[in-house]
Amino acid sequence: MEKRIIELTKLLNQYRQEYYTNDAPSVSDQEYDKLYHELLDLEKAYPELIQKDSPTQGVGGLILSGFEKHQHPYPLYSLQDAFSHDELLAFDRRVKAEFPQAQYVAELKIDGLSISLSYEAGQLVTGATRGDGIVGENITENIKKIKDIPHKLKQAIDITVRGEAYMSRQSFMAINQERQENGETEFANPRNAAAGTLRQLDTSIVAKRNLASFLYQEASPSQEASQVGVLDKLADLGFAVNQRRLLSSSMDEIWDFIQEIEAERDQLAYDIDGIVIKVADLAMQEELGFTIKAPRWAIAYKFPAEEKEAEILSVDWTIGRTGVVTPTANLTPVQLAGTTVSRATLHNVDYIAQKDIRVGDTVIVYKAGDIIPAVLRVVTDKRKDQVPMEIPCLCPSCQSPLTHLEEEVALRCINPLCPSLIQRSLEHFASRNAMNIAGLGPAVVEKLFAANLIKDVAAIYRLSLEDLLSLEGVKEKSAEKLLNAIAISKENSADKLLFGLGIRHVGAKASRLLLERFGDIEALAGADEEEIATIDGLGHVIANSLAQYFAKPEASILLSELKAQGVNLTYLGQKVDQSAALYGMTVVLTGKLETLGRNEAKAKLETLGAKVTSSVSKKTDLVIAGSDAGSKLDKARQLGVRVEDEQWLLDL
Ligand code: NAD
Repeated sequence: MEKRIIELTKLLNQYRQEYYTNDAPSVSDQEYDKLYHELLDLEKAYPELIQKDSPTQGVGGLILSGFEKHQHPYPLYSLQDAFSHDELLAFDRRVKAEFPQAQYVAELKIDGLSISLSYEAGQLVTGATRGDGIVGENITENIKKIKDIPHKLKQAIDITVRGEAYMSRQSFMAINQERQENGETEFANPRNAAAGTLRQLDTSIVAKRNLASFLYQEASPSQEASQVGVLDKLADLGFAVNQRRLLSSSMDEIWDFIQEIEAERDQLAYDIDGIVIKVADLAMQEELGFTIKAPRWAIAYKFPAEEKEAEILSVDWTIGRTGVVTPTANLTPVQLAGTTVSRATLHNVDYIAQKDIRVGDTVIVYKAGDIIPAVLRVVTDKRKDQVPMEIPCLCPSCQSPLTHLEEEVALRCINPLCPSLIQRSLEHFASRNAMNIAGLGPAVVEKLFAANLIKDVAAIYRLSLEDLLSLEGVKEKSAEKLLNAIAISKENSADKLLFGLGIRHVGAKASRLLLERFGDIEALAGADEEEIATIDGLGHVIANSLAQYFAKPEASILLSELKAQGVNLTYLGQKVDQSAALYGMTVVLTGKLETLGRNEAKAKLETLGAKVTSSVSKKTDLVIAGSDAGSKLDKARQLGVRVEDEQWLLDL
């Protein structure tokens, strides 16, 4: 059981990083939610096995280094979720047990990203992302570029409000169209596009991208008695407030509202992923309070993924940058969640075999969390004489034999000189989270490769204007832009370069951790495998993969070539302050603190370099205990963990 809990924690944290920090999820929200609930159930049954970094113990979202941190004056929470009528009825019973007269407000759950806005004397002073709910990113300048967010309110009051920034479907489609033409990676969905946009360091890009907002909460103490009053007040102050809502005390009526909105969902101008149901009365909300990560007075009903039938016309097999072969089905076009879908992923050969998917089959396609559509299953009743699918045994790109590595579900091309594999690695190198070379997308890479102008990443830095102009369809202006983007990328912090090299298992976060420690890539190349493996957050798999990579003579040749071209190999991001008083310590807060609020204490500990977690275990280094501390203090004493009080922290 412990193994599964650790596995789920790790996997979900990886997905959270992709979703919240990189704005590029690799799995659907449904898939994420399914695994999340599996973990929740296991943690309920085995609370002693809850991992310190479990996603159930905090609000998701990491801070990107380019922005200043913003300490939220009032913490931001996530929401409990529900997937069925029964779960809503259970929520209703819990609320009504305390407040039989409770009424609810049902609102649309806008699929964008949380923002918090603070005004002083009616003037916008800060705009921030949610981050981990306690500390977010200060994105005030970007917020100012969202046209429907007032810089000045209609009343000169102090207020902190909360809402969702989003991108309309129309803007999303226009931006993706442009990105496709420029050979840039398209955004998976409007949510990612909005999140990616708000985390741009260049405000002019934000201005161009046409974001919008809906505000729904007064975070600072409200004079209103009810959520309905809050929404009206926000509208009166000049904020955009969504007008579709229902006030009712009956869960049945709310269920009808959910059905009604779900039926209209496709016609809305923006994406929603559910309906949020909130206890209307603010005094009742206060009484009900919060769990560690969500209010007890609200629940989010999440819509199921949309599904449609389509026929598989053919299957394409494409090679990814690690050599993995991915099958994609070409379909008869269907309308799904507001867009026309004519391709869907079949994941891998095992999936095809398991679901017995054949060309000509009628299948159920779903848009998982509005990401890449996928084939869910075959409608077997509609099968006629389709034959089992032929699985390729040769690489469609280089014709070398494909391998099914042990314990892997994927087929792989293991020829390092495979043209597709090289092209995908080059695209990865240029991608946003790696070297971020705008204009070097798949179409341009393919042309450069075909013209024999690039075979490895170092060659990117040798490209000349003449080289680019020799390519069909490349005009002087875009060639100059691309050369400029290439030149700028030389200055990137070396963690971008390390990630861009595409070393197996070395993702963006690992790259950052590695360079925070070693300072530059050459030092990392000479580092001891054991030393790497002990870095918090890494481990033997990554250490071994790096050792294998840097042991190859090609790697040192590549690094010298990059260096000779003026590419920066040094880490330029923030370094962890290893001299901070509590650096590297895992600390637990328990009991009632007299002077400091819980969040304030947590923030103080973090500035002192500590990692604050919620449960005491062998790995805890220190417990700060206030008055009435209960079982956590007992456990700390049992385990012999050091215990200090609030005054000790204040003195520090
Ligand atoms: P959530 O998105 O399920 O719900 C909380 C958020 O809803 C709030 O922070 C707020 O921003 C938003 N919201 C929109 N309209 C609202 C309204 N009218 N009132 C109140 N809030 C409103 O929770 P979360 O913690 O932000 O994210 C968890 C979810 O994110 C998961 O359930 C999953 O769907 C998704 N996720 C997906 C992946 C992935 O890899 N696909 C990874 C992590 C998270």
